[in-house]
Amino acid sequence: MNRELAERLQTVLDRIRAAERRFGRPPGSVRLLAVSKTRPADTIAALAAAGQRCFGENYLQEASVKMAELAALDLEWHFIGPIQANKTRLIAEAFSWVHSVDRPKIAERLSAQRPERLPPLNICLQVNIGREPSKHGLEEAETLAVARAVSALPRLRLRGLMAIPAPSSAFAAQREPFARLRALQERLIAAGLALDTLSMGMTDDLEAAIAEGSTLTRIGTALFGPRA
Ligand SMILES: *Cc1c(COP(=O)(O)O)cnc(C)c1O
Repeated sequence: MNRELAERLQTVLDRIRAAERRFGRPPGSVRLLAVSKTRPADTIAALAAAGQRCFGENYLQEASVKMAELAALDLEWHFIGPIQANKTRLIAEAFSWVHSVDRPKIAERLSAQRPERLPPLNICLQVNIGREPSKHGLEEAETLAVARAVSALPRLRLRGLMAIPAPSSAFAAQREPFARLRALQERLIAAGLALDTLSMGMTDDLEAAIAEGSTLTRIGTALFGPRA
């Protein structure tokens, strides 16, 4: 199990490095977030032993149990799932990053609840780019105004944008929504926001995301196998 996990991790890192080279991205400019939803704590510990440090979770209750079990390890936790307003305190207290902020109210609560002893919480705004199956995410047209508001909150650090495009198997079709998210990010930067993160790319579209400027790929299946 541990050997297989280490091999899968190397395969994913090789895919990322190959895509960086192929699309002219600087070596090491794309980070790997291991999406560990539904995976038990000992599996996460095994991947950590193989060298992976950043893990992404979608479900707060499940994540809290595993994070407590793994507290002795120096891991960086990212929350990437839908956020209910009454769950923001636990997220603000336990995570380093949140990728799925899609309304100002959630950002305000996270900022107010982020403990003073911790560094500011890193934030990506989730954008509903193109025709996504889920209803989550900001509309493109409202993203600049929300980004300005979020960047003014004292206990948050706005880092960039995140999207989960509808699945597509053709490479050109996969690139299109990622290109739109990148263009939106560039408009925000031109408007004066200091952003450095594009959270995009999953197991089936990570090369297309890297081609379009992803800096943080969120990978589950390629690391851990299919989810039950
Ligand atoms: C589950 C999930 C992933 C990982 O997807 P895979 O296809 O298993 O790599 C990435 N991002 C989010 C937001 C997810 O919910």
